[in-house]
Amino acid sequence: MHTSIRSFDHFFISGEWRAPSGAQRTPVISPSTEEEIASIPRATSADIDAAVNAARQAFDFGPWPRMSPAERAKVLARVPAEIDKRAAEIANSFCHEVGGPKFIASFMASQANKMWGDAATLHQRFKFEERREWNNGHGYLIFEPVGVVATILPWNGPVPTISLKIAPALAAGCTVVIKPAPEAPIGALILAEALAAAGFPRGVVNMVPGDREIGEYLANHPLVDKIAFTGSTAAGAKVMAACARRIARVTLELGGKSASIVADDIDLASLAPTLVNNAVMHSGQICAALTRVLVPRHREEELVARMCDYMATLKVGDPLEEDTVLGPVITSAQRERIEAYIAKGIEEGARLVFGGGRPAGRSRGWYVQPTLFSGVNNSMTIAREEIFGPVVVVIPFDSIEEAVAIANDSEYGLSGAVYARDVALAEKIARQIRTGQISINSWDMCVVQPFGGFKKSGLGREGGIEGLLEYLEPKLLQFAKC
Ligand code: NAD
Repeated sequence: MHTSIRSFDHFFISGEWRAPSGAQRTPVISPSTEEEIASIPRATSADIDAAVNAARQAFDFGPWPRMSPAERAKVLARVPAEIDKRAAEIANSFCHEVGGPKFIASFMASQANKMWGDAATLHQRFKFEERREWNNGHGYLIFEPVGVVATILPWNGPVPTISLKIAPALAAGCTVVIKPAPEAPIGALILAEALAAAGFPRGVVNMVPGDREIGEYLANHPLVDKIAFTGSTAAGAKVMAACARRIARVTLELGGKSASIVADDIDLASLAPTLVNNAVMHSGQICAALTRVLVPRHREEELVARMCDYMATLKVGDPLEEDTVLGPVITSAQRERIEAYIAKGIEEGARLVFGGGRPAGRSRGWYVQPTLFSGVNNSMTIAREEIFGPVVVVIPFDSIEEAVAIANDSEYGLSGAVYARDVALAEKIARQIRTGQISINSWDMCVVQPFGGFKKSGLGREGGIEGLLEYLEPKLLQFAKC
């Protein structure tokens, strides 16, 4: 692992590394040292115009949308090898700019490659054109690419998050403009190098990291046909409003407040560490984190004690140290937000049973202890709002029906898990939970099958054939009256 990361001086536009339009730079700050570790050019609207124009040109006149899906798949299939060549640098950038620990960093490239691998085989599973017959006519249903896609992304896992959006978009024949978050642009720009090496035609892939204003400019851009957004629900609502004004297509991957439901028949000694990990991994900065733990009331005390015991074993520290489990959170402002939620939890009467503060001996870095609240009811702020920090709440229930009602009593609906030895019971519970994914006796974000949210967790799906469909327009070619 390196002790530093690279800076970039250019954006990737129209198949080349192009100088920015302005002279200002944006610093990249390490969440663990609070020091500037790299910088990138500060994007202006002129840079976004250049990227969008390149993508528009490539879509309207270039070969990419006109190639067969199988021909496009050959280019997509070259991406994983290029990402693999840069896997160490991608992992290194994740530790430095995101503050994620090494063991998570090591998955970044392979996680992204699952998406590229899957996208490269979509044409074998999906018919881009099929004959349709009806009472007095026949024709063809043709799935055409939606056009120029702009993707707006968060900082918490740049390389997989970008890949999950653009791999299916490119498989569909779209051209893309990628706007990574300014907090963590370096991993994204390394991915752009991999994509450049894979050999997409000029203008098919463009990348300009930038701040919120740049995101707003992109979301409102008249030459963009579709916005694929991942981020907070508040920003997603603004993006959707911008798209509504010009009826642009939009998909949203937003926040979550997902639940683990623990049935009465399960062994808590072995489950407690899993429940903690599912909630606080990556310092809780995972949209699908299971931050509410629902447990039968008479077992709450035992579970809380076991979760506390496990939390005490988690090393919070420098992401570059081998045994670190939790790194810092992304910014000082985010730590203050998390601490305000912790204070609110105490104020509203929840019992703080572990953590709640900053780890001892760390004068630099935006660290937060893993934090556990018990005695929580589902109407408390800490049970309702997405904290995006290592804070987990335990909520007791008196019946399975009540557990289902509590799990579903949320503005969000992204993920979840049910733990029960009786798998039939677990399935019965899981079928009643209103979330885009729900796991039984495990927890994973499956990215090669539809992933996305009910309710305020989003709109649309990513991954698999349903993810591809989000980047296609069905067109009926008809030979007789319908
Ligand atoms: P954020 O909403 O602040 O920013 C996300 C991206 O949107 C950034 O690139 C930002 O520059 C841009 N942006 C912000 N406001 C905008 C606006 N009004 N118009 C256009 N662009 C705008 O979120 P964040 O703090 O970077 O990320 C954390 C959030 O992302 C959490 O809520 C988390 O749940 C969510 N998230 C969701 C998923 C998912 O797949 N559902 C995955 C990762 C993160």
